[in-house]
Amino acid sequence: MHNTVWQTVKKSIKAEIPNHAFNTWISPIKPVALNNDSLILEVPNQFFYEWIDTHFRETIKKKALDDKGTPLNVKYTVSTEKKRITNKAVEKEYKKTFNQNATTLINRNQRFNNFIEGSNNQFARAAAISVAKNPGESNYNPLVIYGGVGLGKTHLLHAIANQTIENGKNKKVVLETSERFTQEFIASIQKNTNDEFTKKYRKANLLLIDDIQFFKGKEQTQEQFFHTFNELHQLNKQIVLSADTYPGDMEGLQERLVSRFQSGLSVDIQPPDFETRVAILLEKAQQNGLELSYDLVELIATHIKTNIRVLESIIIRLLANSSLYGKEINRNLVEEVIREKLGKEMILELSLEDVVKKVSEIRNVPLKLIVGPSRRRELVKTRHLAMYLCRELTNNTLASIGLFFGGRDHTTVLHACTQVKKVYKKKSAVEKFINQISKNLSVANF
Ligand code: ADP
Ligand code: MG
Repeated sequence: MHNTVWQTVKKSIKAEIPNHAFNTWISPIKPVALNNDSLILEVPNQFFYEWIDTHFRETIKKKALDDKGTPLNVKYTVSTEKKRITNKAVEKEYKKTFNQNATTLINRNQRFNNFIEGSNNQFARAAAISVAKNPGESNYNPLVIYGGVGLGKTHLLHAIANQTIENGKNKKVVLETSERFTQEFIASIQKNTNDEFTKKYRKANLLLIDDIQFFKGKEQTQEQFFHTFNELHQLNKQIVLSADTYPGDMEGLQERLVSRFQSGLSVDIQPPDFETRVAILLEKAQQNGLELSYDLVELIATHIKTNIRVLESIIIRLLANSSLYGKEINRNLVEEVIREKLGKEMILELSLEDVVKKVSEIRNVPLKLIVGPSRRRELVKTRHLAMYLCRELTNNTLASIGLFFGGRDHTTVLHACTQVKKVYKKKSAVEKFINQISKNLSVANF
């Protein structure tokens, strides 16, 4: 009887959900009995039960009817047989779900195989891989990965977590940001659930905390983290941290924490060099199915120097432009997108000559006169403006600007800048000129 009922239920669910879901989750369920008004189903394990309970309970309940069409109660029992999960699909799903259900959110897409290695991150990457292989068993405990914004720290943390889970050695992975740790800690005090909080972190075999600089100035949280850290460390559980600066240089952290952080291995990630930027762009373009010729990749890599997140956002921007607006991806579009991203920053690539040439063009005064010795009033004004713009728009020192302007002293340049600043904003003509030239130059830079 229970068999027939279940067959009917199964048939009608099969029509409703994708095949792979059916094979993975519904096929393995066994009907064991029909007692009064209850249908008893057996599932392979607790995890399976929880999955069914959250995803299919309503569906099954709706379909489970007796021969008169009255709804049955559906009860589950977990198989006592300790069967290994052999079905590959189940195993895959199991792993996937482990992450979804875990208290932490691990980004499945940030892995070692899509982390481009460059001289800037070689050491950090190698240390991360080594830790993922044998969490807690290396001398790298804690492993601290530090460096500027958008350079791949978070990516490496997630890659370690993913790799560890997949190796199957060690499933208790907890990955949180220091902000989340702080919030959870505060909430646990307010709700009096400190036990739960402590348990979550201290049961971890691999604990990864992202951006520990946000612990700065939070005394109680630091105290809490100190204990968590010590407990895990003593048990040889692996700890991985990321930070925006070298732990020893961090202010606002308790001395004892800093010294703990320094007791393992600290590795930095530097901004990527040109070759690495090109490699990253090619990889991201390919990942997103974006066709980008090499010279366009090079154009982007030449202008975006520090931040991989910005490199990535340029790819996304180009993709949007081509797929949403049907624009052709050519040099013009790429330039437009770079300009949009960089704004003023890009202007910093200008040479002194670029700037003075532009001033000469717009004011219609020969360059030779601008950098020459003449003290004619109008000319001096233009020279001051040019010096000011050189100071604002290029990376040159006062001394080298002075040198360019016919070997003048750096104090002369400084004086010129002060003069211009005084009138700038007061005289709208000067402001207009400066805006115009900045705009002109940023376009001319290509
Ligand atoms: P951080 O945490 O250091 O601020 P992220 O790890 O968030 O930086 O990296 C910013 C973005 O750049 C992410 O989308 C990340 O996947 C990507 N990224 C960073 N480094 C690399 C790399 N070496 N190879 C590929 N992608 C990278
Ligand atoms: Mg980060």
